[in-house]
Amino acid sequence: MKASKKPVLPRVPMPNQPPAERVRNFDEVALGYTPEMARQEAGRCLQCKKPRCVKGCPVEVPIPQFIAALAQGDVEHAYRIIKTTNSLPAVCGRVCPQESQCEGACILQAKGQPVAIGRLERFVADEYMHRDACGLITGKPECPYIDPEKKVACIGSGPASLTAAGYLAAHGCKVTVFEALHELGGVLVYGIPEFRLPKEKIVAKEVNALRELQVEFVRNRVGGKTFSISDLFAQGYKAVFIGVGAGLPRFLGVPGENLNGVFSANEYLTRVNLGRAYSFPEYDTPIIRGRCVTVFGGGNVAMDAARTAMRLGAESVHIVYRRTQAEMPARHEEVEHAIEEGVQVAELCGPLEFRAGENGSLAAVVLQKMELGEPDESGRRRPVAVQGATVELPTDLAVIAVGTRSNPVLLENEPELKLTGRGYVSVDEETGETSMPGVYAGGDIVTGAATVILAMGAGRRAAKHIARSLGCAVED
Ligand code: FAD
Repeated sequence: MKASKKPVLPRVPMPNQPPAERVRNFDEVALGYTPEMARQEAGRCLQCKKPRCVKGCPVEVPIPQFIAALAQGDVEHAYRIIKTTNSLPAVCGRVCPQESQCEGACILQAKGQPVAIGRLERFVADEYMHRDACGLITGKPECPYIDPEKKVACIGSGPASLTAAGYLAAHGCKVTVFEALHELGGVLVYGIPEFRLPKEKIVAKEVNALRELQVEFVRNRVGGKTFSISDLFAQGYKAVFIGVGAGLPRFLGVPGENLNGVFSANEYLTRVNLGRAYSFPEYDTPIIRGRCVTVFGGGNVAMDAARTAMRLGAESVHIVYRRTQAEMPARHEEVEHAIEEGVQVAELCGPLEFRAGENGSLAAVVLQKMELGEPDESGRRRPVAVQGATVELPTDLAVIAVGTRSNPVLLENEPELKLTGRGYVSVDEETGETSMPGVYAGGDIVTGAATVILAMGAGRRAAKHIARSLGCAVED
Protein backbone atom coordinates (compact mmCIF):
# COMPACT_ATOMS: atom_id res chain seq x y z
CA MET A 1 0.00 0.00 0.00
CA LYS A 2 2.55 2.54 -1.09
CA ALA A 3 1.29 6.07 -1.00
CA SER A 4 2.94 9.33 -1.98
CA LYS A 5 4.68 11.31 0.75
CA LYS A 6 2.96 14.63 0.11
CA PRO A 7 1.89 16.49 3.28
CA VAL A 8 -1.71 15.85 4.26
CA LEU A 9 -3.90 18.77 5.27
CA PRO A 10 -6.62 18.41 7.92
CA ARG A 11 -9.99 17.00 6.83
CA VAL A 12 -12.37 19.66 5.50
CA PRO A 13 -15.28 19.98 7.97
CA MET A 14 -18.86 19.59 6.76
CA PRO A 15 -20.99 22.72 7.19
CA ASN A 16 -24.08 21.95 9.28
CA GLN A 17 -27.15 23.90 10.30
CA PRO A 18 -26.40 25.26 13.81
CA PRO A 19 -27.97 23.02 16.52
CA ALA A 20 -30.19 25.76 18.01
CA GLU A 21 -31.67 26.47 14.59
CA ARG A 22 -32.02 22.95 13.21
CA VAL A 23 -33.77 21.60 16.29
CA ARG A 24 -36.74 23.75 15.27
CA ASN A 25 -37.02 22.48 11.70
CA PHE A 26 -36.95 19.28 9.63
CA ASP A 27 -34.53 20.62 7.01
CA GLU A 28 -31.37 18.70 6.28
CA VAL A 29 -28.76 19.06 9.03
CA ALA A 30 -25.62 18.54 6.93
CA LEU A 31 -25.39 21.19 4.21
CA GLY A 32 -22.86 19.56 1.87
CA TYR A 33 -19.52 20.72 0.52
CA THR A 34 -19.12 23.63 -1.84
CA PRO A 35 -17.14 22.82 -5.04
CA GLU A 36 -14.07 24.42 -3.50
CA MET A 37 -14.32 22.37 -0.29
CA ALA A 38 -14.83 19.20 -2.33
CA ARG A 39 -11.79 19.91 -4.47
CA GLN A 40 -9.70 20.61 -1.36
CA GLU A 41 -10.84 17.43 0.39
CA ALA A 42 -10.30 15.38 -2.78
CA GLY A 43 -6.73 16.69 -2.82
CA ARG A 44 -6.09 14.93 0.52
CA CYS A 45 -6.45 11.48 -1.03
CA LEU A 46 -3.07 9.74 -1.27
CA GLN A 47 -4.13 7.67 -4.30
CA CYS A 48 -2.86 4.45 -2.71
CA LYS A 49 -1.76 1.83 -5.21
CA LYS A 50 -3.66 -0.89 -3.31
CA PRO A 51 -6.52 1.06 -1.82
CA ARG A 52 -8.06 -0.47 1.30
CA CYS A 53 -11.00 1.90 1.11
CA VAL A 54 -12.40 0.03 -1.93
CA LYS A 55 -12.31 -3.26 -0.03
CA GLY A 56 -14.10 -1.54 2.84
CA CYS A 57 -17.03 -0.61 0.58
CA PRO A 58 -19.65 -3.37 0.18
CA VAL A 59 -20.27 -2.33 -3.45
CA GLU A 60 -16.58 -1.62 -4.17
CA VAL A 61 -16.87 1.90 -5.53
CA PRO A 62 -13.57 2.75 -7.32
CA ILE A 63 -12.87 5.39 -4.70
CA PRO A 64 -9.37 6.68 -5.60
CA GLN A 65 -10.40 7.00 -9.26
CA PHE A 66 -13.52 9.06 -8.59
CA ILE A 67 -11.64 11.23 -6.11
CA ALA A 68 -8.85 11.80 -8.65
CA ALA A 69 -11.41 12.95 -11.23
CA LEU A 70 -12.99 15.25 -8.67
CA ALA A 71 -9.61 16.70 -7.68
CA GLN A 72 -9.19 17.63 -11.34
CA GLY A 73 -12.60 19.31 -11.32
CA ASP A 74 -14.25 16.71 -13.57
CA VAL A 75 -17.46 16.04 -11.61
CA GLU A 76 -19.13 14.28 -14.52
CA HIS A 77 -16.32 11.75 -14.85
CA ALA A 78 -16.27 11.27 -11.07
CA TYR A 79 -20.00 10.56 -11.21
CA ARG A 80 -19.70 8.04 -13.99
CA ILE A 81 -16.96 6.22 -12.07
CA ILE A 82 -19.12 5.98 -8.93
CA LYS A 83 -22.05 4.81 -11.01
CA THR A 84 -20.17 1.79 -12.27
CA THR A 85 -20.93 0.10 -8.96
CA ASN A 86 -23.24 2.30 -6.88
CA SER A 87 -26.73 3.18 -8.06
CA LEU A 88 -27.74 5.44 -5.13
CA PRO A 89 -24.70 7.61 -4.30
CA ALA A 90 -26.69 10.62 -3.05
CA VAL A 91 -28.31 8.30 -0.51
CA CYS A 92 -25.11 6.44 0.42
CA GLY A 93 -23.13 9.67 0.76
CA ARG A 94 -25.65 10.67 3.42
CA VAL A 95 -26.47 7.56 5.41
CA CYS A 96 -23.72 4.95 5.01
CA PRO A 97 -21.64 4.12 8.11
CA GLN A 98 -18.47 5.25 6.33
CA GLU A 99 -16.47 5.32 9.56
CA SER A 100 -16.67 1.53 9.75
CA GLN A 101 -16.44 0.93 5.98
CA CYS A 102 -14.46 2.89 3.37
CA GLU A 103 -13.22 5.64 5.70
CA GLY A 104 -12.49 3.14 8.45
CA ALA A 105 -10.11 1.43 6.03
CA CYS A 106 -8.50 4.65 4.69
CA ILE A 107 -4.76 4.80 5.35
CA LEU A 108 -5.20 8.27 6.87
CA GLN A 109 -7.52 6.79 9.51
CA ALA A 110 -4.38 5.95 11.50
CA LYS A 111 -4.02 9.71 12.07
CA GLY A 112 -7.73 10.07 12.86
CA GLN A 113 -8.38 12.09 9.72
CA PRO A 114 -9.48 9.73 6.91
CA VAL A 115 -10.47 11.23 3.57
CA ALA A 116 -14.15 12.28 3.82
CA ILE A 117 -15.18 9.76 1.15
CA GLY A 118 -18.89 9.85 2.01
CA ARG A 119 -19.05 13.63 1.82
CA LEU A 120 -17.26 13.60 -1.53
CA GLU A 121 -19.62 10.95 -2.87
CA ARG A 122 -22.58 13.05 -1.75
CA PHE A 123 -21.10 16.16 -3.37
CA VAL A 124 -20.58 14.42 -6.72
CA ALA A 125 -24.08 12.92 -6.69
CA ASP A 126 -25.78 16.20 -5.76
CA GLU A 127 -23.84 18.14 -8.37
CA TYR A 128 -24.79 15.65 -11.05
CA MET A 129 -28.43 15.15 -9.97
CA HIS A 130 -29.85 17.67 -12.39
CA ARG A 131 -28.30 15.97 -15.40
CA ASP A 132 -29.98 13.40 -17.63
CA ALA A 133 -31.77 10.50 -16.00
CA CYS A 134 -30.32 7.65 -18.03
CA GLY A 135 -26.89 8.79 -17.05
CA LEU A 136 -28.07 8.84 -13.45
CA ILE A 137 -28.72 5.13 -13.52
CA THR A 138 -26.33 3.71 -16.05
CA GLY A 139 -23.42 6.14 -15.97
CA LYS A 140 -23.66 6.05 -19.78
CA PRO A 141 -25.00 8.83 -22.00
CA GLU A 142 -27.58 6.70 -23.80
CA CYS A 143 -30.59 4.81 -22.52
CA PRO A 144 -30.42 1.06 -23.18
CA TYR A 145 -32.98 -0.78 -25.33
CA ILE A 146 -35.57 -2.30 -22.97
CA ASP A 147 -36.68 -5.76 -24.10
CA PRO A 148 -40.39 -6.23 -23.19
CA GLU A 149 -39.86 -10.01 -23.05
CA LYS A 150 -37.31 -9.76 -20.24
CA LYS A 151 -39.89 -9.01 -17.56
CA VAL A 152 -38.70 -8.94 -13.96
CA ALA A 153 -40.76 -8.12 -10.85
CA CYS A 154 -39.33 -6.61 -7.66
CA ILE A 155 -41.42 -6.84 -4.49
CA GLY A 156 -40.82 -3.91 -2.14
CA SER A 157 -39.24 -0.59 -3.12
CA GLY A 158 -36.42 -0.15 -0.60
CA PRO A 159 -32.77 0.25 -1.56
CA ALA A 160 -32.37 -3.49 -2.32
CA SER A 161 -35.15 -3.49 -4.91
CA LEU A 162 -34.32 -0.04 -6.31
CA THR A 163 -30.75 -1.16 -6.91
CA ALA A 164 -31.84 -4.44 -8.46
CA ALA A 165 -34.33 -2.55 -10.67
CA GLY A 166 -31.69 -0.03 -11.77
CA TYR A 167 -29.15 -2.71 -12.63
CA LEU A 168 -31.68 -4.81 -14.54
CA ALA A 169 -33.09 -1.85 -16.47
CA ALA A 170 -29.57 -0.71 -17.36
CA HIS A 171 -29.09 -4.20 -18.85
CA GLY A 172 -32.26 -4.03 -20.92
CA CYS A 173 -34.85 -5.76 -18.69
CA LYS A 174 -38.42 -4.54 -18.27
CA VAL A 175 -38.83 -4.12 -14.52
CA THR A 176 -41.97 -3.61 -12.44
CA VAL A 177 -41.67 -2.75 -8.74
CA PHE A 178 -44.62 -3.66 -6.48
CA GLU A 179 -44.78 -1.69 -3.22
CA ALA A 180 -47.22 -2.21 -0.35
CA LEU A 181 -47.20 1.44 0.75
CA HIS A 182 -48.33 4.55 -1.12
CA GLU A 183 -44.80 6.01 -1.35
CA LEU A 184 -41.66 4.52 -2.84
CA GLY A 185 -38.28 4.07 -1.18
CA GLY A 186 -38.83 1.75 1.81
CA VAL A 187 -37.03 2.84 4.96
CA LEU A 188 -35.51 5.73 2.99
CA VAL A 189 -38.96 7.37 3.04
CA TYR A 190 -40.76 6.01 6.08
CA GLY A 191 -37.85 5.47 8.49
CA ILE A 192 -34.91 7.84 8.00
CA PRO A 193 -36.13 11.39 8.73
CA GLU A 194 -36.16 14.30 6.31
CA PHE A 195 -33.42 16.10 8.26
CA ARG A 196 -30.98 13.31 7.36
CA LEU A 197 -32.26 12.30 3.94
CA PRO A 198 -34.51 14.71 2.01
CA LYS A 199 -37.37 12.83 0.37
CA GLU A 200 -38.22 15.04 -2.61
CA LYS A 201 -34.71 16.29 -3.31
CA ILE A 202 -32.99 12.90 -3.15
CA VAL A 203 -35.16 9.77 -2.83
CA ALA A 204 -37.89 10.84 -5.30
CA LYS A 205 -35.22 11.90 -7.81
CA GLU A 206 -33.55 8.49 -7.66
CA VAL A 207 -36.95 6.83 -8.18
CA ASN A 208 -37.83 9.14 -11.07
CA ALA A 209 -34.54 8.40 -12.75
CA LEU A 210 -35.56 4.72 -12.75
CA ARG A 211 -38.84 5.66 -14.45
CA GLU A 212 -36.80 7.09 -17.32
CA LEU A 213 -35.50 3.57 -17.84
CA GLN A 214 -39.09 2.35 -18.14
CA VAL A 215 -39.15 0.87 -14.64
CA GLU A 216 -42.81 0.76 -13.68
CA PHE A 217 -43.90 1.33 -10.07
CA VAL A 218 -47.14 -0.16 -8.79
CA ARG A 219 -48.02 1.15 -5.32
CA ASN A 220 -50.48 -0.16 -2.73
CA ARG A 221 -49.88 -3.78 -3.81
CA VAL A 222 -49.11 -6.21 -1.01
CA GLY A 223 -47.19 -9.33 -2.03
CA GLY A 224 -48.79 -12.36 -0.39
CA LYS A 225 -52.14 -10.56 -0.10
CA THR A 226 -53.12 -8.77 -3.31
CA PHE A 227 -50.89 -10.96 -5.49
CA SER A 228 -48.70 -14.04 -5.14
CA ILE A 229 -45.39 -14.98 -6.70
CA SER A 230 -47.12 -17.57 -8.91
CA ASP A 231 -49.48 -14.78 -10.16
CA LEU A 232 -46.37 -12.90 -11.30
CA PHE A 233 -44.98 -15.86 -13.23
CA ALA A 234 -48.45 -16.41 -14.76
CA GLN A 235 -48.34 -12.78 -15.94
CA GLY A 236 -45.14 -13.47 -17.88
CA TYR A 237 -42.50 -12.31 -15.40
CA LYS A 238 -39.37 -14.38 -15.92
CA ALA A 239 -37.82 -13.68 -12.50
CA VAL A 240 -38.83 -12.15 -9.18
CA PHE A 241 -36.69 -10.25 -6.66
CA ILE A 242 -37.94 -10.06 -3.06
CA GLY A 243 -36.81 -6.98 -1.11
CA VAL A 244 -39.49 -6.59 1.53
CA GLY A 245 -37.22 -5.57 4.42
CA ALA A 246 -37.38 -6.25 8.14
CA GLY A 247 -39.82 -3.72 9.51
CA LEU A 248 -41.70 -5.73 12.13
CA PRO A 249 -40.92 -4.05 15.47
CA ARG A 250 -39.58 -5.84 18.54
CA PHE A 251 -40.88 -4.80 21.94
CA LEU A 252 -39.37 -4.77 25.42
CA GLY A 253 -41.77 -7.19 27.08
CA VAL A 254 -42.09 -5.20 30.31
CA PRO A 255 -45.30 -4.30 32.20
CA GLY A 256 -47.24 -1.27 30.96
CA GLU A 257 -45.93 -1.48 27.39
CA ASN A 258 -49.45 -1.24 25.94
CA LEU A 259 -50.23 2.09 27.66
CA ASN A 260 -51.24 5.10 25.58
CA GLY A 261 -48.05 6.98 24.85
CA VAL A 262 -45.80 3.97 24.14
CA PHE A 263 -44.89 3.64 20.46
CA SER A 264 -42.63 1.40 18.42
CA ALA A 265 -40.01 3.49 16.58
CA ASN A 266 -41.44 2.08 13.37
CA GLU A 267 -44.90 3.53 14.03
CA TYR A 268 -43.58 6.81 15.46
CA LEU A 269 -41.22 7.52 12.55
CA THR A 270 -43.70 6.31 9.93
CA ARG A 271 -46.35 8.68 11.25
CA VAL A 272 -43.94 11.59 11.20
CA ASN A 273 -42.08 10.84 7.94
CA LEU A 274 -44.62 9.16 5.71
CA GLY A 275 -47.74 10.65 7.31
CA ARG A 276 -46.09 14.11 7.69
CA ALA A 277 -47.43 14.28 11.25
CA TYR A 278 -45.03 17.18 11.87
CA SER A 279 -47.34 19.25 9.67
CA PHE A 280 -50.54 18.31 11.55
CA PRO A 281 -53.27 19.56 10.96
CA GLU A 282 -52.19 20.40 7.39
CA TYR A 283 -51.66 16.62 7.11
CA ASP A 284 -54.22 14.65 9.07
CA THR A 285 -51.85 12.20 10.79
CA PRO A 286 -52.02 12.69 14.56
CA ILE A 287 -48.96 12.16 16.78
CA ILE A 288 -48.32 12.56 20.49
CA ARG A 289 -45.94 15.50 20.90
CA GLY A 290 -44.42 14.36 24.17
CA ARG A 291 -43.04 16.87 26.67
CA CYS A 292 -40.81 14.31 28.38
CA VAL A 293 -39.74 11.70 25.87
CA THR A 294 -37.79 8.49 26.53
CA VAL A 295 -36.35 6.46 23.67
CA PHE A 296 -35.06 2.91 24.21
CA GLY A 297 -32.14 1.67 22.07
CA GLY A 298 -28.71 2.79 20.92
CA GLY A 299 -28.79 2.50 17.13
CA ASN A 300 -29.53 4.88 14.26
CA VAL A 301 -33.25 4.29 14.70
CA ALA A 302 -33.11 5.44 18.34
CA MET A 303 -31.16 8.58 17.33
CA ASP A 304 -33.68 9.36 14.60
CA ALA A 305 -36.61 8.97 16.99
CA ALA A 306 -34.96 11.12 19.68
CA ARG A 307 -34.02 13.91 17.27
CA THR A 308 -37.50 13.82 15.76
CA ALA A 309 -39.04 14.23 19.23
CA MET A 310 -36.79 17.27 19.86
CA ARG A 311 -38.01 18.82 16.61
CA LEU A 312 -41.62 18.17 17.62
CA GLY A 313 -41.10 20.38 20.67
CA ALA A 314 -40.16 18.03 23.53
CA GLU A 315 -38.79 19.70 26.67
CA SER A 316 -36.53 16.75 27.42
CA VAL A 317 -35.52 13.68 25.44
CA HIS A 318 -33.60 10.80 27.03
CA ILE A 319 -32.07 7.87 25.21
CA VAL A 320 -31.98 4.87 27.52
CA TYR A 321 -29.25 2.37 26.70
CA ARG A 322 -28.15 -0.73 28.62
CA ARG A 323 -24.45 -0.32 27.89
CA THR A 324 -22.40 2.90 27.72
CA GLN A 325 -22.45 5.56 25.01
CA ALA A 326 -19.14 4.21 23.66
CA GLU A 327 -20.83 0.88 22.78
CA MET A 328 -23.80 2.38 20.96
CA PRO A 329 -24.16 0.88 17.47
CA ALA A 330 -25.42 4.17 15.94
CA ARG A 331 -23.13 6.13 13.64
CA HIS A 332 -20.87 8.39 15.73
CA GLU A 333 -21.96 11.46 13.78
CA GLU A 334 -25.62 10.76 14.61
CA VAL A 335 -24.88 10.41 18.32
CA GLU A 336 -22.87 13.65 18.26
CA HIS A 337 -25.61 15.50 16.40
CA ALA A 338 -28.27 14.22 18.80
CA ILE A 339 -26.30 15.38 21.84
CA GLU A 340 -25.60 18.78 20.23
CA GLU A 341 -29.35 19.13 19.76
CA GLY A 342 -30.03 18.54 23.46
CA VAL A 343 -30.77 14.80 23.59
CA GLN A 344 -29.55 13.28 26.88
CA VAL A 345 -28.10 9.78 27.13
CA ALA A 346 -29.12 7.68 30.13
CA GLU A 347 -26.46 5.02 29.76
CA LEU A 348 -26.24 1.79 31.76
CA CYS A 349 -30.01 1.72 32.28
CA GLY A 350 -32.63 -0.81 31.19
CA PRO A 351 -36.45 -0.71 31.25
CA LEU A 352 -38.33 -2.31 34.15
CA GLU A 353 -41.87 -0.96 33.88
CA PHE A 354 -44.06 1.71 32.28
CA ARG A 355 -46.38 3.50 34.76
CA ALA A 356 -49.66 5.25 34.05
CA GLY A 357 -50.72 8.63 35.46
CA GLU A 358 -54.18 9.62 36.70
CA ASN A 359 -55.57 9.81 33.17
CA GLY A 360 -54.48 6.23 32.44
CA SER A 361 -51.82 7.26 29.91
CA LEU A 362 -48.07 6.86 30.26
CA ALA A 363 -46.57 9.09 32.97
CA ALA A 364 -43.24 7.50 33.91
CA VAL A 365 -40.81 4.70 33.22
CA VAL A 366 -38.94 2.80 35.89
CA LEU A 367 -35.35 2.04 34.94
CA GLN A 368 -32.98 -0.59 36.25
CA LYS A 369 -29.40 0.61 36.70
CA MET A 370 -26.82 -1.65 35.06
CA GLU A 371 -23.07 -2.18 35.11
CA LEU A 372 -20.83 -3.89 32.56
CA GLY A 373 -19.86 -7.48 33.31
CA GLU A 374 -17.97 -10.14 31.35
CA PRO A 375 -18.00 -10.06 27.51
CA ASP A 376 -20.89 -11.96 25.85
CA GLU A 377 -20.91 -13.94 22.54
CA SER A 378 -20.68 -10.65 20.58
CA GLY A 379 -17.46 -9.75 22.41
CA ARG A 380 -19.11 -6.74 24.05
CA ARG A 381 -19.28 -6.56 27.85
CA ARG A 382 -22.65 -7.80 29.04
CA PRO A 383 -24.87 -5.34 30.96
CA VAL A 384 -25.70 -6.72 34.42
CA ALA A 385 -28.40 -5.34 36.74
CA VAL A 386 -27.21 -3.55 39.89
CA GLN A 387 -29.51 -5.13 42.46
CA GLY A 388 -31.93 -2.67 44.09
CA ALA A 389 -30.76 0.31 42.00
CA THR A 390 -33.75 1.74 40.13
CA VAL A 391 -34.76 5.20 39.03
CA GLU A 392 -38.06 6.67 37.80
CA LEU A 393 -38.04 8.95 34.77
CA PRO A 394 -41.12 11.15 34.08
CA THR A 395 -42.21 10.24 30.54
CA ASP A 396 -45.36 11.02 28.57
CA LEU A 397 -44.04 9.54 25.29
CA ALA A 398 -41.84 6.45 25.03
CA VAL A 399 -40.40 5.16 21.76
CA ILE A 400 -39.03 1.64 21.53
CA ALA A 401 -36.16 1.23 19.09
CA VAL A 402 -34.59 -2.09 20.05
CA GLY A 403 -34.62 -3.80 16.66
CA THR A 404 -36.95 -5.40 14.18
CA ARG A 405 -37.80 -8.76 12.61
CA SER A 406 -38.64 -9.86 9.07
CA ASN A 407 -41.77 -8.49 7.42
CA PRO A 408 -43.98 -11.58 7.56
CA VAL A 409 -46.87 -10.87 5.17
CA LEU A 410 -45.30 -12.21 1.98
CA LEU A 411 -43.40 -15.03 3.69
CA GLU A 412 -46.45 -16.42 5.49
CA ASN A 413 -48.26 -16.78 2.19
CA GLU A 414 -45.45 -18.36 0.18
CA PRO A 415 -44.91 -21.73 1.89
CA GLU A 416 -42.41 -22.90 -0.76
CA LEU A 417 -40.02 -20.15 0.25
CA LYS A 418 -37.42 -21.69 2.57
CA LEU A 419 -36.67 -19.58 5.65
CA THR A 420 -33.71 -19.52 8.03
CA GLY A 421 -34.11 -20.46 11.69
CA ARG A 422 -34.51 -16.75 12.48
CA GLY A 423 -37.37 -16.35 10.00
CA TYR A 424 -35.52 -14.61 7.18
CA VAL A 425 -35.43 -15.76 3.56
CA SER A 426 -32.75 -18.37 2.94
CA VAL A 427 -30.71 -17.66 -0.22
CA ASP A 428 -27.67 -18.91 -2.10
CA GLU A 429 -25.07 -16.42 -0.85
CA GLU A 430 -23.44 -16.03 -4.22
CA THR A 431 -26.50 -15.54 -6.42
CA GLY A 432 -29.25 -14.47 -4.01
CA GLU A 433 -31.53 -17.19 -5.41
CA THR A 434 -34.10 -18.63 -2.99
CA SER A 435 -35.49 -22.17 -2.73
CA MET A 436 -38.03 -21.18 -5.45
CA PRO A 437 -36.46 -21.30 -8.93
CA GLY A 438 -36.26 -17.87 -10.55
CA VAL A 439 -37.05 -16.13 -7.25
CA TYR A 440 -34.27 -14.11 -5.65
CA ALA A 441 -34.11 -12.10 -2.42
CA GLY A 442 -31.81 -9.55 -0.79
CA GLY A 443 -31.51 -6.80 1.78
CA ASP A 444 -32.91 -6.84 5.32
CA ILE A 445 -35.33 -9.69 4.51
CA VAL A 446 -32.28 -11.94 4.14
CA THR A 447 -29.78 -10.48 6.62
CA GLY A 448 -32.07 -8.99 9.24
CA ALA A 449 -31.93 -5.23 9.91
CA ALA A 450 -28.62 -4.02 8.45
CA THR A 451 -27.58 -1.06 6.31
CA VAL A 452 -28.57 0.66 3.07
CA ILE A 453 -25.34 -0.23 1.34
CA LEU A 454 -25.53 -3.91 2.27
CA ALA A 455 -29.11 -4.02 0.93
CA MET A 456 -27.90 -2.36 -2.27
CA GLY A 457 -25.01 -4.80 -2.59
CA ALA A 458 -27.43 -7.71 -2.29
CA GLY A 459 -29.81 -6.17 -4.85
CA ARG A 460 -26.98 -5.72 -7.30
CA ARG A 461 -25.63 -9.22 -6.81
CA ALA A 462 -29.01 -10.85 -7.40
CA ALA A 463 -29.75 -8.56 -10.36
CA LYS A 464 -26.50 -9.61 -12.02
CA HIS A 465 -27.55 -13.27 -11.83
CA ILE A 466 -31.07 -12.51 -13.00
CA ALA A 467 -29.73 -10.51 -15.96
CA ARG A 468 -27.36 -13.31 -16.86
CA SER A 469 -30.14 -15.92 -16.61
CA LEU A 470 -32.20 -13.82 -19.04
CA GLY A 471 -29.37 -13.71 -21.57
CA CYS A 472 -28.24 -10.11 -21.00
CA ALA A 473 -24.58 -9.26 -21.53
CA VAL A 474 -23.21 -8.88 -18.01
CA GLU A 475 -19.75 -7.64 -17.08
CA ASP A 476 -17.90 -9.64 -14.36
P1 FAD B 1 -36.64 -1.65 3.21
O1 FAD B 1 -35.93 -0.35 3.09
O2 FAD B 1 -37.24 -2.00 4.53
O3 FAD B 1 -37.77 -1.68 2.11
C1 FAD B 1 -38.70 -2.75 2.05
C2 FAD B 1 -39.93 -2.27 1.30
O4 FAD B 1 -40.78 -3.40 1.05
C3 FAD B 1 -40.79 -1.28 2.10
O5 FAD B 1 -41.11 -0.18 1.28
C4 FAD B 1 -42.03 -2.08 2.47
O6 FAD B 1 -43.19 -1.27 2.54
C5 FAD B 1 -42.13 -3.03 1.29
N1 FAD B 1 -42.87 -4.26 1.59
C6 FAD B 1 -42.87 -4.99 2.73
N2 FAD B 1 -43.68 -6.06 2.60
C7 FAD B 1 -44.20 -5.99 1.34
C8 FAD B 1 -45.10 -6.81 0.61
N3 FAD B 1 -45.62 -7.93 1.15
N4 FAD B 1 -45.44 -6.45 -0.65
C9 FAD B 1 -44.92 -5.31 -1.22
N5 FAD B 1 -44.06 -4.50 -0.56
C10 FAD B 1 -43.69 -4.84 0.70
N6 FAD B 1 -28.93 2.21 7.28
C11 FAD B 1 -27.81 2.90 6.96
O7 FAD B 1 -27.00 2.41 6.19
N7 FAD B 1 -27.58 4.16 7.49
C12 FAD B 1 -28.48 4.76 8.29
O8 FAD B 1 -28.23 5.88 8.74
C13 FAD B 1 -29.68 4.08 8.62
N8 FAD B 1 -30.63 4.66 9.40
C14 FAD B 1 -31.80 4.01 9.62
C15 FAD B 1 -32.81 4.66 10.33
C16 FAD B 1 -34.03 4.05 10.54
C17 FAD B 1 -35.09 4.79 11.29
C18 FAD B 1 -34.24 2.72 10.07
C19 FAD B 1 -35.57 2.02 10.32
C20 FAD B 1 -33.26 2.05 9.37
C21 FAD B 1 -32.03 2.70 9.13
N9 FAD B 1 -31.03 2.08 8.39
C22 FAD B 1 -29.88 2.77 8.08
C23 FAD B 1 -31.20 0.70 7.86
C24 FAD B 1 -31.58 0.71 6.38
O9 FAD B 1 -32.51 1.71 6.11
C25 FAD B 1 -32.09 -0.66 5.95
O10 FAD B 1 -31.07 -1.60 6.21
C26 FAD B 1 -32.44 -0.68 4.45
O11 FAD B 1 -33.43 0.26 4.14
C27 FAD B 1 -32.94 -2.08 4.03
O12 FAD B 1 -33.33 -2.02 2.69
P2 FAD B 1 -34.35 -3.08 2.05
O13 FAD B 1 -34.50 -2.70 0.63
O14 FAD B 1 -33.90 -4.45 2.39
O15 FAD B 1 -35.73 -2.90 2.85
